[in-house]
Amino acid sequence: MSLPEFKLLRPRSLAEALDLLGKHADVQMVAGGTDLVPSLKQRLFTPAYILDIRRIAELRGIRRIPGQGTEIGALTTLTEIENSDHIRRDYPVLHEAAKTVASPILRNMGTLGGNICLDTRCLWYNQSLTWRTSCGFCIKKDGDLCHVAPGGTKCWAVFSGDTPPALLCLDAELEIAGPAGTRRVALCDFYTNIGDACMKLAKNEMVTRVFLPEHSAGYRGVYRKLRVRGSIDYPLAGVAVALKRSNGHVEDARVAITAVNPAPLMVCGVEEELVGKPVSERTAAAAGELAARTAKPLTTSALTPEYRREMIRVFTKRAVMEAAKE
Ligand SMILES: Cc1cc2nc3c(=O)[nH]c(=O)nc-3n(C[C@H](O)[C@H](O)[C@H](O)COP(=O)(O)OP(=O)(O)OC[C@H]3O[C@@H](n4cnc5c(N)ncnc54)[C@H](O)[C@@H]3O)c2cc1C
Ligand code: SF4
Repeated sequence: MSLPEFKLLRPRSLAEALDLLGKHADVQMVAGGTDLVPSLKQRLFTPAYILDIRRIAELRGIRRIPGQGTEIGALTTLTEIENSDHIRRDYPVLHEAAKTVASPILRNMGTLGGNICLDTRCLWYNQSLTWRTSCGFCIKKDGDLCHVAPGGTKCWAVFSGDTPPALLCLDAELEIAGPAGTRRVALCDFYTNIGDACMKLAKNEMVTRVFLPEHSAGYRGVYRKLRVRGSIDYPLAGVAVALKRSNGHVEDARVAITAVNPAPLMVCGVEEELVGKPVSERTAAAAGELAARTAKPLTTSALTPEYRREMIRVFTKRAVMEAAKE
């Protein structure tokens, strides 16, 4: 499959990139290109301009800010996160999630910003133009109906990034740059849970940095995902757990899920089930039950919704037990 025609813009600074974003309405940003390039080939996007942001050196790297936490540039690759001793030691749930993304070669190219801004996925959408022409278009691209929930008006395409649930557990914030300057938003307020407009990001804005607060450092972290091919696939269900213990009891616990809704979501109520108690089969199963209730998988992916929801329950219980191990 070939790429559609476009003009390539290659800014060297953030200011230049924002200027180009403001000048051109029909522009699509590319970072590592590991998700966007296949989508271009499938004609899911046919922009007049591609803005290649990879040369913007100021958006790379992991920096500790004493007393505040850690800042990660949006262009930092997933391999850099995987290889960072600091992330492995202080934010292990992010380390665990990053190292499960795709394959080593794709992680060498793929960036944290691209993983956070990943397009949602659906069996009826991530197909070639020929496939979609013969099977019929849908709300997310060129059509007005949904094959997954016929009769509805909402797109349920599923968010399938691995690092955002880990970042949610760490209370991460994003820096977003646009024509009016920069703003900072909590990651939990960034996603809409709507399949065809999944992020609160204007066309002329970009994610520039991710902040991990100091108070989230030192939590034990576990990430578990369900996928068809263990070596390379997107998650079909994913669970991140961050847990703090003292004197054998849970002091704080956070659970977030991915790949079963149009957004990665925190699981509410987990603290009430776990905090102040030792972790047991019973309390871990209660957390699993809450996670399964938060998951609303539909027939957007290769495995059945029932199986994916059940695996959210099972993975959550296992991940909580694992995070609580001595
Ligand atoms: C075979 C295969 C398997 C994969 N498996 C997984 C997997 O297991 N888990 C997973 O999470 N992902 C997976 N992916 C998707 C992808 O490799 C990763 O999500 C990667 O992190 C995307 O980053 P990127 O820099 O390559 O993004 P790109 O492809 O460059 O961009 C992705 C999207 O993000 C937007 N974007 C990029 N950077 C920014 C920014 N700074 N600000 C605003 N918007 C931005 C782009 O415009 C585009 O819409 C897989 C891809 C393939 C091809
Ligand atoms: S959920 Fe429905 S509208 Fe959304 S991509 Fe799938 S078929 Fe299309």
